[in-house]
Amino acid sequence: MEDIEHIQKEMKLIDGKGRRLDGRKPDELRPVRIEAGVLRRADGSAYMEWGGNKVLAAVYGPREAHPRHLQDPARALVQCRYNMAPFSVTDRKRPGPDRRSVEISKVISEAFSSVVFKEQFPRTSVDIFIEVLQADAGTRCAGLTAASVALADAGVPMRDLVASCASGKIDGVVCLDLNKDEDNFGDADCPMAVIPRTGEIVLLQMDGHLTYDEFQKAMSLSLGAAQRLYELQRDALRRRYAVTLQDILKESPPAPMVAGPAESEPELPAEDDFGSEGI
Ligand code: UDP
Repeated sequence: MEDIEHIQKEMKLIDGKGRRLDGRKPDELRPVRIEAGVLRRADGSAYMEWGGNKVLAAVYGPREAHPRHLQDPARALVQCRYNMAPFSVTDRKRPGPDRRSVEISKVISEAFSSVVFKEQFPRTSVDIFIEVLQADAGTRCAGLTAASVALADAGVPMRDLVASCASGKIDGVVCLDLNKDEDNFGDADCPMAVIPRTGEIVLLQMDGHLTYDEFQKAMSLSLGAAQRLYELQRDALRRRYAVTLQDILKESPPAPMVAGPAESEPELPAEDDFGSEGI
């Protein structure tokens, strides 16, 4: 225990120039890439790389809720399963649910419950699956942001996309989007999720302590990042669904302007085929 405290005291997470271990400034997001519609069997899906995180999200529904006693006659259920692959972390993770994944699944389902138009789909269930393939802190935010794109890809009616990013405190400085070392050896981590169009917060958690002013700063960093993530989410959906003029022409080639050469006309059978009397 004393050894760990010693390492924590010795470990500098921010250098003299104000740069973090991975070279980022305090308000800098890790590189983010989102692809929509990556799985054929699911109704909607998305893949996201966010710094060292690799996350896959799949959505089914709205479909009849099972078991039937769970059905709500007035609205749809929004259910989420967040899972970390055994190979997603340095020390192999024991497969299956644990307390942490049950908690993350719960807070993510609650976040989406407030945006999906549940009343339009009574007795059904919208099922969201989040698989973390590689983890580097911030996986609940990455999972939520990817799942939001997967929901839109599945065509689930909702008020807006949800974007999520954490901020925290390392070496006494409030920073955006902590990576694993910063999360492990930092002072606080505060993940949040927002509806970017309205600024409504749909998830807010805190690990560690922040003063009121630090919290305000963390909140404003995360809200700013959410707007950038929102752009990337919409961009992924645009890339998936944008139809170019070339696509339209490929589907139905235009009719030739001038009558084509004789060989393009259907060939009539030779008279002999039917005899001199015809058919
Ligand atoms: N982590 C791990 N093993 C576990 C759970 C978490 O190595 O069983 C790592 C993983 O990199 C994760 C990070 O710790 O991303 C931070 O986990 P936290 O519970 O704060 O959730 P997250 O930041 O991923 O949403």
